[in-house]
Amino acid sequence: MNMRRQEEDELVDWLSPLFLGSYAENNELLEKVLVELLRDHVYWRRNIHPEDRPQIPVLADTGPEYRRFVGRMKTELHGLTARLKNSAPFFNPRYIGHMASDLLLPGLIAQLVTTLYNPNHVTDEASPVTLPLELELGRQLAAMFGFNTDPEQEPCAWGHATSGGTIANDESLWYFRAVRYWPLAAAIALREAGFDPGALKHGPEDFVHAPDHVLFNLSVDHVIRLRREVLASIDHQLDRRQARDLARRIESERVEYLGMAEFHLRHPELGTPVVLVADTAHYSWEKALKLLGLGAANLEPVAVNERMRLDSKALDDALARLADERRPVLAVVGILGTTEFGSIDPVHEIVAARQRWRREGMEFAIHVDAAWGGYLASMFHRPDGTLLDHAEMRRRFHLFPSEPVYKAFAALRHVDSVTVDPHKLGYVPFGCGAYVARNRGMTDFISQKAAYVFDDAETVPDSEYERRFRNLGQYILEGSKPGAAAAGAWLSHRVLPLDADNFGRLCAETIRNCEYFFEHIDQLRDELAGVARVVLPFEPDTNLVCLAINPSGNRSLARMNAFGRRLYEHLSVGEEVDIHSREFFGSRTVVHRHKLGERAAERLMAELDLDPSTFVDEPDDSGEQADSIFLLRHTLMNPWLSGHDEGMNYLDRYCRHLAELVRQAMRDQPG
Ligand SMILES: *Cc1c(COP(=O)(O)O)cnc(C)c1O
Repeated sequence: MNMRRQEEDELVDWLSPLFLGSYAENNELLEKVLVELLRDHVYWRRNIHPEDRPQIPVLADTGPEYRRFVGRMKTELHGLTARLKNSAPFFNPRYIGHMASDLLLPGLIAQLVTTLYNPNHVTDEASPVTLPLELELGRQLAAMFGFNTDPEQEPCAWGHATSGGTIANDESLWYFRAVRYWPLAAAIALREAGFDPGALKHGPEDFVHAPDHVLFNLSVDHVIRLRREVLASIDHQLDRRQARDLARRIESERVEYLGMAEFHLRHPELGTPVVLVADTAHYSWEKALKLLGLGAANLEPVAVNERMRLDSKALDDALARLADERRPVLAVVGILGTTEFGSIDPVHEIVAARQRWRREGMEFAIHVDAAWGGYLASMFHRPDGTLLDHAEMRRRFHLFPSEPVYKAFAALRHVDSVTVDPHKLGYVPFGCGAYVARNRGMTDFISQKAAYVFDDAETVPDSEYERRFRNLGQYILEGSKPGAAAAGAWLSHRVLPLDADNFGRLCAETIRNCEYFFEHIDQLRDELAGVARVVLPFEPDTNLVCLAINPSGNRSLARMNAFGRRLYEHLSVGEEVDIHSREFFGSRTVVHRHKLGERAAERLMAELDLDPSTFVDEPDDSGEQADSIFLLRHTLMNPWLSGHDEGMNYLDRYCRHLAELVRQAMRDQPG
């Protein structure tokens, strides 16, 4: 008991300075540091050329235009802040809706202060100080996923900040396409030029005449080495001008130059490429295929199992069919923390499937969309970077991590690239996602400039990558971009390193909150016994949890959904809602019938005591049927949720509030 108390006290001590706090408890700290750094910025301005006299006259603030301007500015600013008062109060433990919470003070302050200096990370000419910090942010995240970040070893990872997870996902496919299509472009260009690169260490046999499906089915690492070797061979055999012309010819055969339609016309044997992702995918994936001209029709949803994780048997079946059809598979995407359920796809099984299919001559790149769950990887690493073993992890929690979840995180280092959002579980302000690639050699394919050849056929010197990334805008989807966002995330990780003893402690609290909710849901069930049935449709993998609530006696899914929507009305924000009238803030989601297996659908209907014939793909017009189940969705990322103080447990309070809402909705029930 005392031991427990002491641990609790230590935790509170540790957590206390992290955020401004729901009661703005740390206002003095924030104000002091901000004012200090603001003054520091003022001195910096004055000291650029202190001999210059001030341009704005000392008495300017007495002028009528000056004062009118200040008046207008203040009026508008007060108007804005007045309106902002009805914002969603993410910072408050009563907010358990979307993927947002309080902001870590180090990241918040760093971002606010860096904005005063306004660096632009499109190139280091516009950000000599902070662009290197963005590249270090990439290394911090890469190391968290277990990628090698030592430039002395190949492959070496790199990563950078994006505006969010959506752009990082787009970029992953942009990179994969650039790499995987390259051998086809090179082979056709060399063939038509009558150039023989000779025997290639990394080639497929007779590279220039190899069939397109062979050229497409090469791994990312393989193509990176192959390209270096081909360019070195060109450089060896031809004089400078001829070599440059041939390199240009390859560029002019690439899909980035020709476009998808023309490229595929020139490679009629190559089928339309497919991207596979679990049915629970974020909608950014559909956008990505549309954007790149790959076509949303070629995003193949893979069925999920009862835990809302990608079903590896279904993945294997899909791969077998695609292999039969000789369809090229550009990538398989695993989701580490689905947006709706927080579920963790079996990344280890995707990696294993790739090993198996590689032996059959089929290759695919693997991207992990860890926009939500990526930071949870910090819990799995000791400060020295080694992985905690499963038993050690289990001792820290009641249920987490289940074996498949542990294995998924442990397998991250084998994938080709990862999306992660510092502006979600990284607790920094919005406008900061990240893309991380295991092999920075992928950038050899992206430059908007001509190809380079280096002395050594096998490697590109570290200095070249350093030079390259100083022109970051050349290698990423975005151009001008805020250095302040990257500096905020970087600094936050400097203060709280991404390991189990530091950042991981924060993540662990979110998992413990979820375990608490999961383990105490029976209290809500008991409280509502005879009134309504409370069902947790899926045991949570991480820190998101959904609930379905069915009024007693109701057998129709459509009615249950309508009831759920009425509950949600009391948990939502909106222009017309006064946020002070809300006790708690939640969110919602739906699970469609066609995304659930037969077994899961039957089980849920039984648990909810609903008539299974009311859950259908095509509802009739009886008003009893529905094609989806409405769920209340809860993101449990605020570390103060389970209240470290007596009587302040927000999860208990939320359950009591929900019970009250249910009773009230029952009373107001029509009929
Ligand atoms: C949030 C999220 C995205 C999109 O990220 P944004 O930062 O909103 O662009 C993509 N995938 C998953 C799994 C997400 O949770």
